[in-house]
Amino acid sequence: MKLVRFRTNDKDKNGVVINGGLVEINPSLLDAAQSPFDDLERKEFYHLDEVKILPPVHPSKVVCVGLNYRDHAEELNMTLPEEPILFIKPSSTVIGHEDNILYPPQSHQVDYEAELAVVIGRKSRLVNQEDALDYVAGYTILNDVTARDLQQKDGQWTRAKSFDTFCPIGPWIETDLDPSNQKIGMKINGQVKQDSNTKNMIFSVEELVEFISSIMTLNPGDVIATGTPPGVGPLQVGDVAEVSVEGIGILKNEVSHI
Ligand code: MG
Repeated sequence: MKLVRFRTNDKDKNGVVINGGLVEINPSLLDAAQSPFDDLERKEFYHLDEVKILPPVHPSKVVCVGLNYRDHAEELNMTLPEEPILFIKPSSTVIGHEDNILYPPQSHQVDYEAELAVVIGRKSRLVNQEDALDYVAGYTILNDVTARDLQQKDGQWTRAKSFDTFCPIGPWIETDLDPSNQKIGMKINGQVKQDSNTKNMIFSVEELVEFISSIMTLNPGDVIATGTPPGVGPLQVGDVAEVSVEGIGILKNEVSHI
């Protein structure tokens, strides 16, 4: 099922996507993710175009994986990493579906990166691969927006990855998905720029949960961004970026001036 947070009449609500719209539900999305659909108390129905979609979670941190697609490593002529390369985007980067990505004046090359995102459902510390998916509430879509010139200039990635609005996520959490074999892509203004499959990931979702939870505690609602396939490129003000992951949907954001 697809679990969504939305705003209507200035109230933030939880819902489940159904029949081209959504139905309000009582429990939080992370609680709903652990319930069978039939057990959810369902309330009013809304059409998708009459509500504002919100980011599905407020993560305490977004843990991102650097190079994690074999085809992307080949594109860059890089050897495959032996361990995941991690970095963190602060929670202040997070925006939702159809919110604007704000182009910062400090950068002259802001890139898009289409990614599958894992939403953590339970506190995770020292989790084994075998149990990893029990700690996952579901999956959403993420655009790891990056000021590439500042990433190269700084060496450290924090500034380049951390501008406000640099982490669009959504539009919802899909609880039923095989993360190991889904098409993933990016369109800019309707033109295909990235087109791959999550089966090309170097480190699986299970391996990432084990690796990351051996370093830091993952809290419910935290997000793991699993890396981007080949075809990364620049965004311009006015561009519309659409990340798609098969089985989840499309995350769409326009780029605008601050
Ligand atoms: Mg990335």
